[in-house]
Amino acid sequence: MQIAARMNRLGSESAFEVLARAKALEAQGKSVINLGIGQPDFSTPQHVVEAAVKALRDGHHGYTPANGILPLRQAVAADIALRRGVSVDPDCIVIVPGGKVTMATAIQMFGEPGGEIMYPDPGFPIYESLVNFTGATAVGYPLLEKDGFAFRAEDLLARITPKTRLLIVNSPANPTGGVAPAAEVAKLAAGLAKHPHVAIMADEIYSRLVLDDDKPYASFIPYTDLHDRLIILDGWSKTYAMTGWRLGWGMWPKKLAELATKLAINVHSCVNAPTQFAGIAALEGPQDAVEHMRQAFIRRRALTVAGLNALPGVSCIQPAGAFYAFPNITGTGYTARQLQDALLEDAGVATIAGTSFGSHGEGYLRFSFAADDAAISEALQRVGSWLAAHKVNK
Ligand code: PLP
Repeated sequence: MQIAARMNRLGSESAFEVLARAKALEAQGKSVINLGIGQPDFSTPQHVVEAAVKALRDGHHGYTPANGILPLRQAVAADIALRRGVSVDPDCIVIVPGGKVTMATAIQMFGEPGGEIMYPDPGFPIYESLVNFTGATAVGYPLLEKDGFAFRAEDLLARITPKTRLLIVNSPANPTGGVAPAAEVAKLAAGLAKHPHVAIMADEIYSRLVLDDDKPYASFIPYTDLHDRLIILDGWSKTYAMTGWRLGWGMWPKKLAELATKLAINVHSCVNAPTQFAGIAALEGPQDAVEHMRQAFIRRRALTVAGLNALPGVSCIQPAGAFYAFPNITGTGYTARQLQDALLEDAGVATIAGTSFGSHGEGYLRFSFAADDAAISEALQRVGSWLAAHKVNK
């Protein structure tokens, strides 16, 4: 038996490995606080759950159109009009089983040997993994602490070559919580006019989790000049605490929406029907649960950042979005991986080494603050005790 070489080029997501190790330690009777996870610690709003149950009771048990049921695509288009101020054709929306699938579709659509795809480093690890899978050249661009981990348009534009096929941007960002300022988004959109051969995939999965109220969300959707080569990745996972439902949407240029649908027909046929009805209820129903979660993340951000800055050898800038803090741990004298492993095995705190998100993540750890206040406080206390016991001083 000989498997295809590309299978050896696939990477993974350390968060799932750390989760497995945390569970194994718990099974041995050890207490582990999991700040490694990337999902809201809330339940899906009840009216959304009820909509799925009703859909099942109403007999929605079969296949749906591969690109998603029309009322759901219309609800997405209405939400885009409401929150991003642009009217889009529901036929440009493709419903997929999770935001990740829009990512995989776009990268497969543009990636092949000889082409280059640009992605953020540190960034969501699946970007680089999938680019390598396709045989394209993965070109990471650094996101720096001194810029609040936001991309700088000039830097990105300078890295574009004639071989660049796709530019991936992500704001608010995983793992850093960095949010691109509106001025940088505008500058990048304007600069891309000079590079018409480059498609853009903007991963806006955390668009509803901007944590600074004085900074309204800067999406790429208002830049309609880019619409013939712009792909937007968004979905329900983070906004409505629906990670396990597997539901996401992509906004595509019409021709590419047709190709994305063709790929869907080849791979998964469609998203399960009741989940699509839940998606309509989430978008069209009350939004108070979304704001309730956002307010909780704002509170926990303060707790996490203050606690991290009080630790010896650790400094942390305030993340502007998502639910991750990305402290600088170089002052501890440990590498990111050493500290991740020691904190998990000895202190019972699961975090993710910055290097799991790219080489520019060395010197950082990702702490998710999608956990309750008591768990965050206890975790910070455990980390503090571990650092003190290992003679890390301010
Ligand atoms: N994009 C980013 C930046 C993420 O952090 C995640 C999930 O962690 C995804 C996309 C994928 O989301 P989903 O669970 O909807 O596939």
